[in-house]
Formats: sequence, C-alpha cells, structure tokens
Amino acid sequence: MYRKSLGDTMKKCESCGMPMMKTSDFGGRKETNKYCVHCTYENGELKPQHEIREGMIKYYMRMKRIDRKNAEQFVEEHMSRMSAWQ
Ligand SMILES: [Zn+2]
Repeated sequence: MYRKSLGDTMKKCESCGMPMMKTSDFGGRKETNKYCVHCTYENGELKPQHEIREGMIKYYMRMKRIDRKNAEQFVEEHMSRMSAWQ
C-alpha cells in the first residue's frame, strides 16, 4: 500500500510487461518509448512478435525452470493480455 505512488508512476513495457525504471530499460533509451529495451531494436523500434515471443520463451524456461511446452503456454497467455499484441 505504501508503495502505491511508485506503482502509479511506474511504466511497463506494453509488449512484455516488464517494469521500466531507468532510461536504459526503455527501447532506444528514450523514456517516451512504450516498449522496453528487450522488445525493441537499438533504434527503439518494436521487434516482430515471433522474435519477442521466442526471447520470452527462453527467458521463462531459464527463470522458472520449466520445459519449452509450458513456457510456450505461459508466454502465449501472457502476450495475449499485452496491449501491443491486441
Ligand atoms: Zn518488453
């Protein structure tokens, strides 16, 4: 509760949901970018969906120690809620 104000101002990547806190977290290192550095090219442009999906699957396999099938399922569901992929 006491961190509410922080949550309100915190920006999240509209493609993967990652919180973007420092300038280097933003695509193209611009804080106006709606997407994070992982979802964009160096110029800040959003990567194609399949590329981001693949990166996230690998990330979750490593982080959550789940197999590819489970990671795929998780990522599909996660991405379907992101405004970038509506
Ligand atoms: Zn992202």
